[in-house]
Amino acid sequence: MEVVPGTQFLLARVDDVARWAQSSSVWPLTMGLACCAIEMMSVTAPEYDIARLGSEVFRASPRQADLMIVSGRVAQKMGPVIKRLYDQMADPKWVISMGACASSGGVFDNYAIVQGVDTIIPVDVYVPGCPPTPDGLLYAVNLIQQQIRQGGRGGILARA
Ligand code: SF4
Repeated sequence: MEVVPGTQFLLARVDDVARWAQSSSVWPLTMGLACCAIEMMSVTAPEYDIARLGSEVFRASPRQADLMIVSGRVAQKMGPVIKRLYDQMADPKWVISMGACASSGGVFDNYAIVQGVDTIIPVDVYVPGCPPTPDGLLYAVNLIQQQIRQGGRGGILARA
């Protein structure tokens, strides 16, 4: 975007405006899996205030959500459910893998836990930690916004 000199007008391409609007209203799916979900929930509180990023509207329906936050370990029985929910989300959509368990199984190296949610669905941002801090999750959402504005995606590691 650029300001027209001597006026109060902005010039921009429609694509850029659409990306800006889209990146400012990334709505997460209401979905918590384990202890990491407690940290995820806290980002809606005033102290962290995810509303600053336009992402405070957690949706109960995958049809209305742009972002899936996989917050915690994924049980084998939940795997197909997560895949179904992801498939029901409209494109374009993004996924944050929050915490060691979601990203790699974490301390649960056993038959009951999926060893990384990226074996089921594509992940855009991985947030390390057990659990990650709410700031780490906010940073991940910020990286998703940057990806949308730049028209790209994929594989960024967010550090808390
Ligand atoms: S990464 Fe830690 S806090 Fe998160 S679900 Fe696993 S054990 Fe719980």
